[in-house]
Amino acid sequence: MKKKVVILGSTGSIGKSLFSILKNDKDNFEIYLLTANSNYKELLKQVKIFKVKNIIITNKLAFIKIQKILINEKINIYNDFNSINKIFQKKEIDYVMSAISGFNGLKPTLSIIKFCKKIAIANKESIICGWSLIKKSLKYNKTQFIPVDSEHFSIWSLLENLKNNSIEKVYITASGGPFRKYPLSKFKSITPTMALKHPNWSMGKKISIDSATMMNKVFEIIEAKKIFNLSYNQLEIIVHPHSYLHAIIKFNNGLTKLLIHDTNMKIPIFNSLYSDSYKKIKSEKLSLKKLNNLNLEKIDKKRFPLVEFLDKLKNNNSLFETVIVAANDCLVKLFLEKKIKFTDISRILLKTLNMTEFKKYKKIAPKNINQITKLSNYVSLKINNMSV
Ligand code: NDP
Ligand code: MG
Repeated sequence: MKKKVVILGSTGSIGKSLFSILKNDKDNFEIYLLTANSNYKELLKQVKIFKVKNIIITNKLAFIKIQKILINEKINIYNDFNSINKIFQKKEIDYVMSAISGFNGLKPTLSIIKFCKKIAIANKESIICGWSLIKKSLKYNKTQFIPVDSEHFSIWSLLENLKNNSIEKVYITASGGPFRKYPLSKFKSITPTMALKHPNWSMGKKISIDSATMMNKVFEIIEAKKIFNLSYNQLEIIVHPHSYLHAIIKFNNGLTKLLIHDTNMKIPIFNSLYSDSYKKIKSEKLSLKKLNNLNLEKIDKKRFPLVEFLDKLKNNNSLFETVIVAANDCLVKLFLEKKIKFTDISRILLKTLNMTEFKKYKKIAPKNINQITKLSNYVSLKINNMSV
């Protein structure tokens, strides 16, 4: 029997990578639901290839356009994520990929857990803001979880059945992004086009900007802390410009494990899909010659001031993580729209996170999605007002 798959964010970088893996193995998979925001053209292509019967497209205009195009087809077309509860009745999906970008990934991720046997989560923002809710739902619904962010997939693979109290330190590797060596005096004039050019990875716009500011690594430390139940002093960022070393774990017993693979997100995606088989991936394999020079460096905190902020984080799960994600989502959008400078992202973000109004959320635990969404909307409003 074919396995039933759902891709949340199928038209994005991660979504398309998964789609191409599934296309190579069409006899074994059926796609039950695809979702996008506005890219209806890409969605249409995907729908045709897999004869998909359910789609969610959140942008109003794109929704109207796709409805007109598919008027004679027997396809259920929805405009919001509340429809997840209409599409599915029971635990019937074998594999879900959560790959929407930014905070908007949280609601659909939480909504779909009860309907799936396994969920692979690439959307780090949902883990950062809503991990306590996600974890509770995974446990309640007996749904298997696999992290897809390459560093977290690697840590997860290295740990296997080991307990987190056997860990001395986990190093999260960072390429250093496009501005690792760029003159600091020119940072103010960095344009979105420059910041979107990552030296090693091809990714969506939001995560590319986060990689340029190093916010992506701040997020990945928080993400690892939550998923593996570690404390911040067990986690450290280390610069590895070639990006083929994805995780280093030092254990209390003197062993250190590394996980290495080519800079291709298809590798963690493929392994999250086929975690219980010995399938062969159609991808370039890492040349061992590359291991002659690992080139590990300390992170330059002057260049990437957002990293300094990690020292101030407390170990509890709190609503403050939502403030961080929402403020950053909003600032990245403003930068991409050329409304603020590159250096304004870290300046305004650090200013916001130091405001008493927001610091109080460090002591408040997230209770439900409505409370998290309300706070996220409030933070966005505040940032938009601050930056004009
Ligand atoms: P992209 O920007 O390439 O794709 C995002 C996807 O989400 C698209 O399908 C997009 O639709 C959809 N989307 C965006 N906003 C909304 C919204 N408001 N409502 C509904 N759908 C929406 O992102 P990536 O694939 O690069 O990243 C996805 C997630 O995975 C992010 O959280 C990122 O941090 C994480 N990740 C990505 C990596 C990568 O290599 N790309 C690596 C590790 C983690 P549309 O196309 O119509 O806009
Ligand atoms: Mg990563």
